[in-house]
Amino acid sequence: MTQACRHCGNALTRQFLDLGFAPPSNAYLAAEDLFAPELTYPLRLMVCETCFLVQTQDYADAGSLFDKDYAYFSSTSKSWLAHAAAYADMISQRLNLTGASHVVEVASNDGYLLKNFVEAGIPCLGIEPTASTAGAARTLGIPVEQAFFGQRLADSLSAAGKSADLIVGNNVYAHVPDINDFTNGLAGLLKPEGVITLEFPHLMRLVEFCQFDTVYHEHFSYLSFGTVVRLFDAAGLRIFDVEELATHGGSLRIYGCLKASGHEETPAVIGLLTEEKRRGMETAAYYAGFQRRAEEVKNRFLAFLLNARRDGKTIAGYGAAAKGNTLLNFSGVQPDLLPFVCDAALSKQGKFLPGSHIPVLPPETLKDHRPDYLIILPWNIADEIGRQNAELAEKGTQFVTFIPETRVLGDPA
Ligand SMILES: [Zn+2]
Repeated sequence: MTQACRHCGNALTRQFLDLGFAPPSNAYLAAEDLFAPELTYPLRLMVCETCFLVQTQDYADAGSLFDKDYAYFSSTSKSWLAHAAAYADMISQRLNLTGASHVVEVASNDGYLLKNFVEAGIPCLGIEPTASTAGAARTLGIPVEQAFFGQRLADSLSAAGKSADLIVGNNVYAHVPDINDFTNGLAGLLKPEGVITLEFPHLMRLVEFCQFDTVYHEHFSYLSFGTVVRLFDAAGLRIFDVEELATHGGSLRIYGCLKASGHEETPAVIGLLTEEKRRGMETAAYYAGFQRRAEEVKNRFLAFLLNARRDGKTIAGYGAAAKGNTLLNFSGVQPDLLPFVCDAALSKQGKFLPGSHIPVLPPETLKDHRPDYLIILPWNIADEIGRQNAELAEKGTQFVTFIPETRVLGDPA
């Protein structure tokens, strides 16, 4: 069964990564679920040799993946809240946003970002399909349209006079199944001189730093800048600026507008396109060899766990997030090697990680069961977690991350 590229329709024949079978990364299990069968799905990425969109391979019965109401509340990460506030400040000044402007955020979650615009008196609208997070945003005084974003919704909002001076999309672009429809929607909702900013993980950094654990079923697209330029072009849009961010291990923030608008292109655009070409991202050869590197990380991770067990050391994990689930399931780790994972989110405590069935416990557990090693699964916020658990480090617990290399925090990198 050959799949067509979700952007250009070309036949996908080149595999980029095969992580085997995995359950949905956010399908946390209750104790009673451990007595029932668990569904797993193939987790494979293909790369299009025409437009270089890296994308998940389709599988049968995809609809059931999204049956549950996965409630991830953005506001639980302090560093992400600070990132959002700094962005709101910067963009309001850059675009001279006022009480006469209209800001729309796609995937507005619990209002972690738009609340900054509400406080500044700039009218805004959130678009969010998940009821629980949309409800949380409304309590902050943020109007929310509870829906999935695409061309149809964009057209109806425009017809209702809700076109945007600014459309924001943070960590949503890579998660939409129909990326062409989403991009067309961006174009359809924009005022003639309006601006789109999107943030998404940069494929160049994923490859450079072997971040294969950012791969999961709900993450449909893995984006180079060159591919996003093509996606925008096909929707009647152009990109006039780009910034590289440290978030999520290396993200891009792109600035887009309608082709006919007056926004002047900055040198950063050609600069990054040139850098991606220099690295070979427009050639099939670039995408070969990633599988082997992912397997090497997995082998180092397993060797660490096995050696620690042999040496009688105690181990715990921190951060019950999608990244950790991908690493644990690809590595086949179960509670014998990693007895529990701590997470501050109340919604996850008392549950079990999908696939590995490792229990999720409150962080306070670490005080009574102080481990020799604490494995920090979301390596992108390892420093924040390290600060929150400084007391453990003082008592001798060593913090470890595995991507791209095995690193004991505090040791020189
Ligand atoms: Zn393609």
